Amino acid sequence: MSLYRRVLIVGGVAGGATCAARLRRLDEEAEIVVFERGPHVSVATCGLPYWIGDVIQEEARLLQATPEVFARNFNVPARTGHEVTAIDRASREIEVRELASGRVYREPYDALVLSPGARPIRPACPGIDLPGIFTLRSIEDSRRIREWIATRQPRRAVIVGAGYIGLEMAENLTQRGLTITVVEALPQVLPLLDAEMAEPVSRHLETHRVDLRLGDGAASFEAGADGGLVVRTASGARLEADLVLLAMGVKPEVKLAVEAGLDIGEAGGVRVDDTMRTSDEHIWAVGDAVEVRDAVTGRWRLVPLAGLAHRQARVAADAIAGRPSRFRGAQLTSVCGFFGMTVAATGASEKVLRSAGTTDYDTVYLHPGDHAGYYPNARPIHLKLIFAKADGRILGAQAVGEQGTEKRIDVLSVAIQKGATVFDLEEVELCYAPQYGAAKDPVNMAGMIAANVLRGDLEPAPWSELPGTAALIVDVRDPHEFAADHIEGAINLPLGELRRRFEELPRASEIWLYCGVGQRSYYALRFLRQRGFNVRSLPGGYQTYWGFYP
Ligand code: FAD
Repeated sequence: MSLYRRVLIVGGVAGGATCAARLRRLDEEAEIVVFERGPHVSVATCGLPYWIGDVIQEEARLLQATPEVFARNFNVPARTGHEVTAIDRASREIEVRELASGRVYREPYDALVLSPGARPIRPACPGIDLPGIFTLRSIEDSRRIREWIATRQPRRAVIVGAGYIGLEMAENLTQRGLTITVVEALPQVLPLLDAEMAEPVSRHLETHRVDLRLGDGAASFEAGADGGLVVRTASGARLEADLVLLAMGVKPEVKLAVEAGLDIGEAGGVRVDDTMRTSDEHIWAVGDAVEVRDAVTGRWRLVPLAGLAHRQARVAADAIAGRPSRFRGAQLTSVCGFFGMTVAATGASEKVLRSAGTTDYDTVYLHPGDHAGYYPNARPIHLKLIFAKADGRILGAQAVGEQGTEKRIDVLSVAIQKGATVFDLEEVELCYAPQYGAAKDPVNMAGMIAANVLRGDLEPAPWSELPGTAALIVDVRDPHEFAADHIEGAINLPLGELRRRFEELPRASEIWLYCGVGQRSYYALRFLRQRGFNVRSLPGGYQTYWGFYP
């Protein structure tokens, strides 16, 4: 039983609802009350884009539970339409406003849990409040967008921001018949990915007629002549739209915490310890409002993901109930999908490692099929694995593909959590039948290639140094593949002719080999090495080249 007899929870969606339900399972005696300023609790926020796109056809399906269910099943009153406006830490009371009546009252607590979430970023640029410009966070936001679509029948949407919500919405608004322009200030989509992994995503979006404007932020909004809107970008482009969605990321809701004098961390979220306790011993905080330790780099970060909010909520409930749970930090495992493509990642990207000052890592790229090539409909998964040079510890992975993509990242996520190395990946035993995988699964392959690098059997040539390299670039694909396209300046010496013709290659200069995906160039490299050549291989071959040099 908990030391804390009266537990109040601010926010009744992902973190708040989970915390309440978990705490009740641990402590039947505690009085638990949830305060939610919106009209609903337990909303499936992650489903909102699909409700707008009509993939989910009833709004009610997004309501995982109601206040009645909370009262009946958990004996937890959930006061919807009640906003918590202040925390009086000295008297351990909160101030609440009942939104319908305006009544303000106070409630005492022994323990307080903050799960107020985050707000979509709405930059203060001219015209930002014009009708037809939306953000998406709640059921009410999605209702507004649905109603706009139903009544105005928009044809053109501009989505500002190419993060996962922006791209999920690109698909769902396409589904509703709109043509889509995505404006993104960064030079790539999906900032979580390294740039070369984002490149196939951009091309995929373009094949689905998404007009991508990368490296160009939205600067202002105006009413258009035809009753629509005009978005002007930083570069001066003029984009006409009938609907604008701002999907520029979120800011943690820290107002209550700031005003109460709780510690706010360097990333701008509520600072908590590993039991999710704030700088006040009676107050916990979870979800999008807090900053967490990056489990790979150890740095504080904002990581607004539902799985983390749920885990943190359980840790906070455990802590309040006197159990020794700990939050281990965030590994940033995430997935999103649009137009048949799946993009998933876990751990650190190269970008993040570099910004954390880590340089002692290496990367491999591979492009295996999601299942055995001889079984119909195998589709490539573009996979990047990042690992420590010193001991082979896995630091991060990114994958872009179709079916089976997220499964590989999930395996790699567990591997990172367990501190596994690339040598462990060589041995990991995964299920296989032709329609699901391969006898050497992409995860095994990633481990084998990385282990080859660490054992010195495969020396990668750095893609970044390709322009201007003095090395001889040798394409070991077949002549028809070379004829179709190749790296500028490369010569063609197909693998099948190598044993007969290898003396044509210079011994004095370094040779960089490549093929389609890296397999044939590895065979060629092993052969040439044993013949005394100074040879390296461009990781992931021509498929990777396109990511770096689109
Ligand atoms: P929320 O779930 O937002 O809950 C906070 C609640 O607190 C809100 O209902 C708010 O009204 C209430 N509140 C705030 N202040 C007060 C106050 N003062 N008084 C009373 N109530 C208050 N994550 C994933 O991992 N996968 C996905 O696919 C995914 N898809 C998403 C799609 C969309 C469109 C959005 C917007 C988010 C998505 N997320 C996804 C993120 C995920 O929804 C959040 O990480 C998660 O909801 C955070 O939980 P939370 O409890 O911190 O905040």
